[in-house]
Amino acid sequence: MDMMKPNLYEPADHPQEWTPEMYQKLEQARDIIEEWWLPNRRQLDRLGGVLAMTEMSDIYYGLHKSIIDAGFYGRSIPKEYGGPGWSLYQCGLLSAEITKMAFTKAVDDAFAYGEPWCHILQHWTPDEDTKREYFKRTLDGGFCTIWATDPESGVDMGGMRGSAVLDGDTYVLNGPKWWMAMCSPGPVGLQWHLALLKTDTSKRTSGLSLFIVNDDAPGIIRGREGDLTGARWGCARYELLLKDLKVQKKCLAAPEGKGLYAIVDGMNKHMGNQAFQAVGVSEAAIKQALDYTTTTIRWDHPLIEYQGVHFPIADMWVNAEAARAITAKANKLWDEGDTEAKHGKWSILAFKFAAPAALDACLKTIELMGARAIEREEGWPMELMYRDSMVFQLYRTPNIDRKFLASYLVRRRL
Ligand SMILES: Cc1cc2nc3c(=O)[nH]c(=O)nc-3n(C[C@H](O)[C@H](O)[C@H](O)COP(=O)(O)OP(=O)(O)OC[C@H]3O[C@@H](n4cnc5c(N)ncnc54)[C@H](O)[C@@H]3O)c2cc1C
Repeated sequence: MDMMKPNLYEPADHPQEWTPEMYQKLEQARDIIEEWWLPNRRQLDRLGGVLAMTEMSDIYYGLHKSIIDAGFYGRSIPKEYGGPGWSLYQCGLLSAEITKMAFTKAVDDAFAYGEPWCHILQHWTPDEDTKREYFKRTLDGGFCTIWATDPESGVDMGGMRGSAVLDGDTYVLNGPKWWMAMCSPGPVGLQWHLALLKTDTSKRTSGLSLFIVNDDAPGIIRGREGDLTGARWGCARYELLLKDLKVQKKCLAAPEGKGLYAIVDGMNKHMGNQAFQAVGVSEAAIKQALDYTTTTIRWDHPLIEYQGVHFPIADMWVNAEAARAITAKANKLWDEGDTEAKHGKWSILAFKFAAPAALDACLKTIELMGARAIEREEGWPMELMYRDSMVFQLYRTPNIDRKFLASYLVRRRL
């Protein structure tokens, strides 16, 4: 049986949504993925983290440099700050396609995905010169990461131990962090970070402040590198110790005491983009399931002709279409400035649906493909896509999203 074009979302079928600039970026992304990622993905994933950077440095840095040279960073930076000013919906549409082409969300992360830090700079950073400086740095290829999680408090950020003490015009930062992305030799540009620490230890969340930290600042001590099962490629994740790290007052990323609110606001936007990555995973999994079941003959018939195979594929499709619909709604409402969307209601609802749907689609496809699904060398990307998608459930954790959504539903803090 010939594999027909599946009835899944294709940019070419939606010319009203894809501007010429978006098409151009899509084609550039396709070229980069085909040249740098697809031929090397198994080795990069196997080595992971710093080993991938050092033992395959030509490929690792070549891939990142081609992303930067093609101008992917800073897509959401507003025009008045020198960026192209893409909407969240436009960023998300591209993210879903990059995720599909690369068979993993981790590659879209390297394309600078939703850039929550740009939102934080734009809406929270008090010092105008600082804001402009770090927008420019982003456009020049300076990746930013968020250093929030403390090893002892986890999702309970208000319980964080790390502190920042003001001494004249300078804050002195001390404290442990873990899971910190990109604190190894950076992709290419001038890296920087947003570090969350307590400026008032007598308070919980309202005592937290957010600081802009340059990657080469003295006082950043790298500890153990995490050896992850998923999201291995792209960046290493470290334990960190900030020790007497000095940050000028003008490098507050948000007013003192508003650090966590700024991060939550940035993440509310970011979840709209993450949900689109999850949609991309679901659609890529369906495509893989169709590729395999239409070309594999068992008992003289392609697998796709058996009714038992229709059921999981139909279920995946229902979820993928529903995830795309709610994610599109969330992103468009955000772009329109809808108040509930700005409070995160829609992006979290969308993510809470799209993320488990993506993992479920991976598992269903793995089951449909049998042993080949976990065979790394044969070229089927399912096990990588599944491992990389697990982080959807770990960044924010589903319970915290449930807690937020239930609070929203009953209109009070729970
Ligand atoms: C691949 C990866 C990359 C990461 N990158 C970064 C990064 O770049 N920067 C950064 O700052 N952090 C990063 N993190 C950390 C991530 O944000 C944390 O893992 C996350 O916040 C959860 O914290 P924790 O793992 O300590 O879980 P815990 O806080 O130990 O929580 C464990 C579980 O308990 C649940 N739980 C906690 N409290 C409650 C409650 N009251 N009611 C019900 N359930 C509850 C949680 O939902 C969770 O499921 C990364 C994590 C991963 C896996």
